[in-house]
Amino acid sequence: MKRKINLWTSVLALVTCLVTFCATLAVSYQTAFHRMETETSRQAALVAAGLEEIKSLSQEMRMEYLVAVGKSDRSRVTLIDPDGTVIFDSNTDPDHMENHLERPEVQEAMQGGQGAAARTSSTLGHQTYYTAIQLSTGEILRLSNTTDIVMDDLQRAIPPLLLIILLVCGLSMWLAHQLTVRLVAPINTLNLEKPLENNIYEEFSPLLSKIHAQNLQIQQQIEILRRRQVEFEAITSNMSEGLIVLDDELRILSANSAAVRLMGAETRDWSGENLIVFSRDTTLSQKARAAVRGGKESLACENKEGAHLHLSLSPVDVEGAPRGCVLLIVDVSERYAAERSRREFTANVSHELKTPLTSISGYAEMVSLGLAKPDDVRGFAQKIHDEAGRLIALVDDIMKLSHLDESTPASLPFEPVELYALAYETTERLRRTAEEQNVEITLEGAPVTVRGVRRMLGEAVFNLCDNAIKYNRAGGRVTVSVGMSHGCACIKVADSGAGIASEDQPHIFERFYRADKSHSKTVGGTGLGLAIVKHVCEIHGASVRVESVLGQGSTFIVTFKPADR
Ligand code: ADP
Repeated sequence: MKRKINLWTSVLALVTCLVTFCATLAVSYQTAFHRMETETSRQAALVAAGLEEIKSLSQEMRMEYLVAVGKSDRSRVTLIDPDGTVIFDSNTDPDHMENHLERPEVQEAMQGGQGAAARTSSTLGHQTYYTAIQLSTGEILRLSNTTDIVMDDLQRAIPPLLLIILLVCGLSMWLAHQLTVRLVAPINTLNLEKPLENNIYEEFSPLLSKIHAQNLQIQQQIEILRRRQVEFEAITSNMSEGLIVLDDELRILSANSAAVRLMGAETRDWSGENLIVFSRDTTLSQKARAAVRGGKESLACENKEGAHLHLSLSPVDVEGAPRGCVLLIVDVSERYAAERSRREFTANVSHELKTPLTSISGYAEMVSLGLAKPDDVRGFAQKIHDEAGRLIALVDDIMKLSHLDESTPASLPFEPVELYALAYETTERLRRTAEEQNVEITLEGAPVTVRGVRRMLGEAVFNLCDNAIKYNRAGGRVTVSVGMSHGCACIKVADSGAGIASEDQPHIFERFYRADKSHSKTVGGTGLGLAIVKHVCEIHGASVRVESVLGQGSTFIVTFKPADR
C-alpha cells in the first residue's frame, strides 16, 4: 500500500509538472510570438518614418540607410517597388527574388496603407511574420521576422524550467513519502482483536465494525465447533465399537480409543497418519479407497488377540463430492462364538438323539421280525422304554435350554424367591431317589431371599442335587447349604462322590460335556444339566463354580450378586 501511494503520488506530481511545463511553453510561445509581431510592426513604422525623412535623397543613400537598418536589427528589411519588383532586401540579393506584388501583406498595404501576414517564407523556408507599410513614394516597406527568434527565447527558458520541474518532483516525492508514512502508521498498529477500541480515521469505522461483527461470528462458530468436538469425543471415547474418520487421502482425522485397542495399534494420537501406517492391512486400505470413491465396503478380520472383527466402511460425501470415509470396527467375537456353539450344539443334538433312536429302532426291528425269543421280548421292551425315557429327558433338557436361550432378564417374571424353602422342596423331591442310591441327603443353613424366577432356580438346584446323588457312591452324603457368604446369598451342594478331574472342571458347564462318559450314560445323564444351571445363573446375575478333589467329592457353589439380596 505504501509503495502504491508513493508511486501514484510521484506519478501525479510528474504529470502535473509536465502539464505545467507544456502549458508554460505554449503560453510563453504565444506571448513571445505576439511580442515579435508588435516589435516588427513598431520597427517597420520607425524604418518607414526614416525613409520618409530621406525620400528626397538619392536612391543610393536610401539603400545605404536600409543596409544600415538591416545590419543593426534582427529583422529582415525589404523594399518593394509599386509594381512588385524587389528593390532591396537585407538578407537576399533582390535580383534573385521574384515579384512580390501578389504577397498578401503587400496587397493589403497597397489597399490600406498597412498589411500583415504570417506564413512560411518561400525565400528563407522558415515560418515568418511579415508587416508591410506603403510609403508616400508608393513603394512598400516590408519587415519580417522568423519564429526562430521566438524558439530561441523558449530554448533559453527550457533548462531552468526543467530544473524547477525536477526540484518540484523531488519535493513532491519526499512529501508523498512523509504523508504515506503518517497515513499508514495508525493502520499498521490496528488492533484487530478489538477493532472498536482503535482510534483511527473515521472512514475506517464501517470496516472496523464489520471486522468486529465477523470476529463475534467467528468466535461463536469456534465455540459451536468446540462443543461439537467435545460431544463427538465424549460419544466416540465411550463407544465399545471402534470409529475412525478418514479423509480422501486415507489420512486419519480421528480415531477413538476402541479403534486403537481393537486394531491392536500403539496407544497414541493417530491424527494425520495414513491408514496403512495404522493397520498395515493392504486389503483394508484398498477397501477404504473404494469407499472414498463412493461404495460401501466391509470385511472381516481377526486381531492379534484372536478377536473376530467386522469392519464396515461408508463414504462421506460433502455437497455431492466424496471427501473421505468412516470406518466402524465391531468386535463380533461373541456373536462368532455363539454361532459356532449353535452349530456345535445342533451337531451334538443330532448325535445325542441318534444313539437312543438307533437302539430303539434295532430292538423294535428284532421284535417285529420275530427274531427275538419270547423270553427276550420283555427285556427288549424294557430297553426300548429306557431309551425312550432317555430321549424324553434329552428333548426335555434341549427344550429347557432353548427356552433359556430365548429368555432375557427383562422378559422374565422376577419375584422374591426364598432359597432355603426352594432347596427344601428339591431335597424332598429327590429324597426317594437318594434312598434308592443309598445316599443321605441333608439341608442346612438359613432362609435367604433373592429376586428371580422360582421355576428356573428350582430347576438349577434340582440339577445340582440330582448330579450330587447320581455321581455319588453307595453310602455317600449330599449336603445342601443355603446362607450368606461375604454379603452375598449363596447355595452350596456338596457331595462325597467320585469328584471331577481338574482338567475336566473348566468344561463341565459346556453343553454335552461329560467328564465320565460311560457313567453319565449309565445314570441317564444328558450332558445338559450343568449347562442349564450355568444359563439360569447368568440370567439371575449369579455365578456358579465347582470345587472338587478327585476321589473325595465335589461342591457346587452358586453365588448371587449383592443387589439380588
Ligand atoms: P449329565 O446329564 O451327564 O449329568 P451334566 O451337565 O449335569 O450332565 O454334568 C456334566 C458332567 O459333569 C457329567 O457328565 C459328570 O461327568 C460331571 N458331573 C456333574 N456333576 C457332578 C458331580 N456332582 N460329581 C461328579 N461329576 C459330576
